[in-house]
Amino acid sequence: MSVDLPLVARGKVREIYDAGSDRLLLVASDRISAYDHVLPTPIPDKGRVLTALSVWWFEQLTPVLASFGASHHLVSAADVPASVAGRAMLVRRLEMLPVECVARGYLSGSGTVEYSTTGSIRDVALPAGLVEGSRLPSPVFTPSTKAEVGEHDEAIDFTAVVAAVGASRASELRELTVALYRRGAEIAEGAGIILADTKFEFGVTPDGGLVLGDEVLTPDSSRFWPAVTWSPGAPQPSFDKQYVRDWLTSSGWDRVSPPPELPSDVVEATRDRYVTAYEQLTGQRFA
Ligand code: ATP
Ligand code: MG
Repeated sequence: MSVDLPLVARGKVREIYDAGSDRLLLVASDRISAYDHVLPTPIPDKGRVLTALSVWWFEQLTPVLASFGASHHLVSAADVPASVAGRAMLVRRLEMLPVECVARGYLSGSGTVEYSTTGSIRDVALPAGLVEGSRLPSPVFTPSTKAEVGEHDEAIDFTAVVAAVGASRASELRELTVALYRRGAEIAEGAGIILADTKFEFGVTPDGGLVLGDEVLTPDSSRFWPAVTWSPGAPQPSFDKQYVRDWLTSSGWDRVSPPPELPSDVVEATRDRYVTAYEQLTGQRFA
């Protein structure tokens, strides 16, 4: 199981290893987190599904990145230690920018909460009458801070992004985030899936080049809704963690004490959702 490289960091879901001065090995586990807790029960194959999906998306998004003079961090998903094959990516080591670049094409979750109190999301005014699940007139950039371990990400407006990374890089992040979202949503739509929202993380190389990092367009970083059941006005059925969150809520868990074990039928149904998202998006069997 272990990797014979120095461990740099252990996140809730992934381990990061030092793979040389300009390389990292990102290893996705089968752990699942919800409400900022890691659940005690792993979801079989989740690490492999999320890695395969990210790798597939990096390739799909390369032309959009290139049109901005940018690139992605993936070096190889094959040239990795055998013990983590299938769920590891060798990537370029980046100086990560301190902004979570969220794009939303639909109103959902914290976006709905914000909209119902202010009529806007961040500094973007929206028309009246939108409800949970509504499509937005055009996709919006709704960044947040990259929280330290144990902290919650905090919503920020565009001026805070300018303060963090400078005006021209902030504009570049906003334009690129929306362009990547649009392309991702277009591909997903062709596969019968609505990409409601997603989060990207970018970093820079020593020469200042902008690079898309982290995982991309996975059910852990995105809301994916089956197009056939889309019906604004209520929470949407989804291919992401919402199913597990709903089960946790129905179990009576208080979101503070250690979370409960997931029953085997919930584990199986969750695995099915991840695998179905992969297969439907890519058109490939998950093996
Ligand atoms: P958690 O997910 O537990 O809240 P986390 O986001 O820090 O915490 P992970 O997502 O498991 O943990 O780990 C990925 C980390 O690696 C993130 O901090 C991400 O910003 C960083 N990262 C991703 N790609 C690169 C890269 N190419 N170079 C440097 N750091 C990267
Ligand atoms: Mg993360």
